[in-house]
Amino acid sequence: MSKILIFGHQSPDTDAITSAITFSHLQNELGKETEPVALGKTTAETQYALDYFEVEAPRVITTAADETPEVMLVDHNEAQQSVSDIDKVKVLAVVDHHRIANFQTANPLYYRAEPVGCTNTIILKLYKENNVEVPKHIAGLMLSAIISDTLLFKSPTCTAEDEKAAKELAEIADIDIEAYGKDLLKAGADTSSKNADQILNDDAKNFPMGDLTVRIGQVNVVDVDEILERKQELLDEMAAQSESNKLDLFILVTTNVLESDSVALVYGEEKAQVAEAFNKEMKDDTLYLEGVVSRKKQVVPQLTEQFS
Ligand code: MN
Ligand code: MN
Repeated sequence: MSKILIFGHQSPDTDAITSAITFSHLQNELGKETEPVALGKTTAETQYALDYFEVEAPRVITTAADETPEVMLVDHNEAQQSVSDIDKVKVLAVVDHHRIANFQTANPLYYRAEPVGCTNTIILKLYKENNVEVPKHIAGLMLSAIISDTLLFKSPTCTAEDEKAAKELAEIADIDIEAYGKDLLKAGADTSSKNADQILNDDAKNFPMGDLTVRIGQVNVVDVDEILERKQELLDEMAAQSESNKLDLFILVTTNVLESDSVALVYGEEKAQVAEAFNKEMKDDTLYLEGVVSRKKQVVPQLTEQFS
């Protein structure tokens, strides 16, 4: 029998990669035959966590139906963020902490959604509910995902449950959260070796908003100038990709992870509306978004409202 494949969203972040690994471990402990896979290469941040806890990166797939009739989704549910042939496989389970949109199945399924800061916070609960022990390396990966998704608890998406889970996991993994957390975020915040495509797409998602397809990428830095100095190169690449991928708007949110502020670069005919959504003035295709760190809570809802 073919294994059930478990994966997070395209352009996987640390939560997408590690929640596939941690949820797969749980499912296997419960007697299922599953394999964690990824819908894209791991980022430098994720690789730092994998190396630290000596776990191999999951292999990358582009289609699922040729390997298995059944899948489980973690850290996403929207079809356009999932595997390209999601309509050809049966979704057995979803564990997620995002809005539910553009999602339907032909069969009943296990669906666990909670408005917490990280999918792994939910998965830790599932380990407990099923009385499955959390091994040290799994705890380390879960902790890494919580640090990553909540920017060390600074994001408005972070809940008390995430912090509590992180403390518990740090015990098991024997990790100093602050020290390890800063190193992890810094590992993912170096853009000097990245080309424009990587900066734009390493952590990017498409969102249908009204009649528009809006792509929103986010990149973490410790100095926003390293991105702003490359503005023209990035806007040119956004223009090219908007043309070839039929995007109406392309937005790159650059987030200073130490200061918890963001700067957005915006490309597309509707760019004036983006400024309007945030009540800001756009200068040279650039918007300064003070206090914004969360795409999910501080960018997507504002734009969805603007375009609906
Ligand atoms: Mn994610
Ligand atoms: Mn997540």
